[in-house]
Amino acid sequence: MSETILIVEDEISLQETLAYNLKKEGYTVETVGDGRSALESAWRLKPDLIVLDIMLPEMDGFEVARILRKEMSTAILMLTARDDEIDRVVGLEVGADDYLTKPFSMRELMARVKAQLRRARLLREEMGKSKDSIQPHEKLTFDDLIIDLTRREVTLDGGVVPLKPKEYELLLFLAEHRRQMLSREFILERVWGWDFIGDSRTVDVHVRWLRQKIEKDSAVPVRIVTVRGGGYRFEG
Ligand code: CA
Repeated sequence: MSETILIVEDEISLQETLAYNLKKEGYTVETVGDGRSALESAWRLKPDLIVLDIMLPEMDGFEVARILRKEMSTAILMLTARDDEIDRVVGLEVGADDYLTKPFSMRELMARVKAQLRRARLLREEMGKSKDSIQPHEKLTFDDLIIDLTRREVTLDGGVVPLKPKEYELLLFLAEHRRQMLSREFILERVWGWDFIGDSRTVDVHVRWLRQKIEKDSAVPVRIVTVRGGGYRFEG
């Protein structure tokens, strides 16, 4: 029951590299090189994840994501190359779940792919599907800080850290995007959701609470750092 990934990328060398590496990880992979084929393949395959480049012939990645979003909830990981594209993706007008900026390493890509697929699996489980498969015990480890995804439990230096559900979700989201600058708006949208009524100060408050629980000195944070004029970055 390997998971299916659709790669939409018109640069053939990158398309082949992505396909090779994802197949090596055991995923079922299909590749296309333009926007229209992307839509056709997505509807036929119903993949678990779509890796979607933005600059494409026929129809660009923004348009593809916009159309797909109306029809299906498949996770979309966008590949961006330019700053103005990043602004639109981070602004989330397009409904992507995550993005990677070119050039990126295969290690980075694989981490994002796994994070998105894990999210999709959890969502399916919550919806009561695929209860027949037992998930392995998954953990994210950052030295003495361990996030146990199966138990939804965080430990620091061996002791359980008491976290409220939103604090846990925020920490997990930050950890899944390690070393990536995340704007308050992006965090708010991804962790609290579209329909959340509130503002980005909500994020600041939760970050402060998290720091008090996981930083050695919350006044001098080293795990969750503030990016001036930007947002937050999880260092590990
Ligand atoms: Ca391209």
